[in-house]
Amino acid sequence: MNQQYNPYLNAQQQFDGVADKINLDSATRELLRQPAIEFHFTVPVKMDGGSTKIFNAYRIQHNDARGPAKGGIRFHPNETIDTVRALSMWMTWKCAVVDIPLGGGKGGVVCDPHNLSKGEQERLCRGYIRKVVKFVGPLSDVPAPDVMTNAQHMLWMMDEYETIRGAHYPGFITGKPVGMGGSLGRTEATGYGVVFCLREALKAENIDIGNTTASVQGFGNVAEYASKKYTELGGKVIAVSCWNQSDKCAYTFRNKKGIDIEALAGIKDSFGSIDTEKAKQLGMEVLSGDEWISQDVDIIMPCALENQITPVTFKKISKTVKVICEGANGPTTPDCDSLIKERGIFLIPDFLCNAGGVTCSYFEQIQCNMNYFWSKEEVLDKLDFKMTTAFAAVYNLAMEKNLYMRDSAYIIAINRVASAVKLRGWV
Ligand code: GLU
Repeated sequence: MNQQYNPYLNAQQQFDGVADKINLDSATRELLRQPAIEFHFTVPVKMDGGSTKIFNAYRIQHNDARGPAKGGIRFHPNETIDTVRALSMWMTWKCAVVDIPLGGGKGGVVCDPHNLSKGEQERLCRGYIRKVVKFVGPLSDVPAPDVMTNAQHMLWMMDEYETIRGAHYPGFITGKPVGMGGSLGRTEATGYGVVFCLREALKAENIDIGNTTASVQGFGNVAEYASKKYTELGGKVIAVSCWNQSDKCAYTFRNKKGIDIEALAGIKDSFGSIDTEKAKQLGMEVLSGDEWISQDVDIIMPCALENQITPVTFKKISKTVKVICEGANGPTTPDCDSLIKERGIFLIPDFLCNAGGVTCSYFEQIQCNMNYFWSKEEVLDKLDFKMTTAFAAVYNLAMEKNLYMRDSAYIIAINRVASAVKLRGWV
């Protein structure tokens, strides 16, 4: 993470700017510019070697006026309480902008799962749930996967929750394995959702997707499926930047003729790290990690972590870039927004762009509640409809009122949450 920027202050700055624009009353503003509830706790884990390691962990519920708090649990060595605060806030706006009846929450553990055995990861997941069990649940706070957590982690967490509660609660957590309460399409959902928004943006801007090229930052779950869907629709991914766990360095892998995304996915580890030697064998050029941003492409897709596009890195963005598609949460610092506007780059803001994951999580909960599961096609059709509808609402408001896309998305989301807060009589 870029240490100079604090994601929580960024999230508050974005919120304050829009709160001013819509003249939000002071009580609602004070309520929504910070999380409602924060848990900061430790999780002791018995390590394979016999020692006990203490992990710092968080669960934060930003707002639940529209429904139970909802959001992932992230495993990352640089996790901080402020990152989780920001992410929980963005989840509230994300659920509101796609109009699903859920609030915003987020969790995190300061750890690097690369350095933990399978057994240690399982004990960490179970220990995490033991600490928050009283405060989470299908009707209060529903976790999901995020950076470096996956379906297996979710299942261990669900099993621990159900063991303690003594009954089945499949709606307690989403992103579970298919066949164990998970939804078909959930793995693909965030990345596909990114590209459903991109497809609509290009249509609205009269750009043929088949003539476009893209450069992607990251190759975790979001980036992989965004790249796949984009390629399927005729676009060409020419660069992917990715973490390499063996020398703990990021690289940009490039193939100007277009990367074979299936082949690249075939050589990544379960946390999205790619070995440079294997990439070379696939015929890719290996460049330094930050070069993804300076490629002469039409679209850049930051699909990794926060604070990647700053005024310094913005200068490296090629003049050919027409669209920034924010697959990650908070990839752009607020001081870049004026630069993006000035250059006339079309922005698809993060909490709209990457809302496909939580939308599919919502579908997963519905299916769990019915105990009847839809086909993949049905799930992805519903996802496409939700994302397309949300994009159209944000785009139309932006056009009608001559607004920046991020502001337009914020106005829709904040108004929905503010109205829920008022209807409940909280302010
Ligand atoms: N972690 C994902 C996000 O940031 C998904 C959250 C969820 O499904 O609850 O949107």
